[in-house]
Amino acid sequence: MTADLHTHTNYSPDAKSSPEEMCRRAAELGLKWYAVTDHCDCNFWLPISEQDRKITIDKEMYGSRDYAQASISHISRLKEQFPFLLCGVELGQPLQNIPAAEVILSRPELDFVIGSLHMNSGRDDFYWLDYGNMTLAEIYSLMEEYFSEILEMCRKADFDVLGHLTYPLRYITGEYGITLEMGRFDDVIRSIFRTLAENGHGIEINTSGLRQKIGKTLPDLEYVKLYRECGGEILTIGSDAHNSGDLGAGIEFGEQTARDAGFKYTAVFRNRKPEFIKL
Ligand SMILES: [Zn+2]
Ligand SMILES: [Zn+2]
Repeated sequence: MTADLHTHTNYSPDAKSSPEEMCRRAAELGLKWYAVTDHCDCNFWLPISEQDRKITIDKEMYGSRDYAQASISHISRLKEQFPFLLCGVELGQPLQNIPAAEVILSRPELDFVIGSLHMNSGRDDFYWLDYGNMTLAEIYSLMEEYFSEILEMCRKADFDVLGHLTYPLRYITGEYGITLEMGRFDDVIRSIFRTLAENGHGIEINTSGLRQKIGKTLPDLEYVKLYRECGGEILTIGSDAHNSGDLGAGIEFGEQTARDAGFKYTAVFRNRKPEFIKL
């Protein structure tokens, strides 16, 4: 197990363990590289009164500039003590509040930025949606919106790797048992992969799905293969651990998935630059 590049500490509202606890566990596991990537969901950046939609206090915390900024400061200080540590951020919805994304991206301490889309513009997080009350047509149109917003992000936003490409399936298929005919999104997914490759950006294999009902990495082997066919070279692997017990979980499976897709190297990022590590 070489690197876990997607994890959260208690600077993320949905995560439990302190940065120190996470780092001690990473040392125990013998990780060569370990990145903390706490949440900054850019569309929740503004105070509640300035949001044009109803959100809860909990959800506001995702984008609180104080939490996201404090994580970066804390992690960059801890790097002296833990030389394998990388300072990252999971930048959610960077195009839904561009000034917020720019403030975070201006932090010189950042080694690594994951760009994620947890919710389509003007909608709630895929986590919160009630797919039981939607028609299949509505779910397909939600997915179309999702992938076209991802494509827009890949064209315009500044990040290093695209987070968990198949995130909505964690809920739609994993939690609600609704199977989608994913082939209808192949064209837009190919465009996403080609755009990432052209811009020197990558994707991640997010192994959290292995611990959840969906039982697959996000994305799974078929998409990692397609990414490679589309010219993709930069691939990171992350557990998306939200507590120290999950740190490193599924990383070896993720490495095998990378090999099975034909990759010889995975990437880690320092100072926002990829470095390649032989598999
Ligand atoms: Zn995420
Ligand atoms: Zn995450």
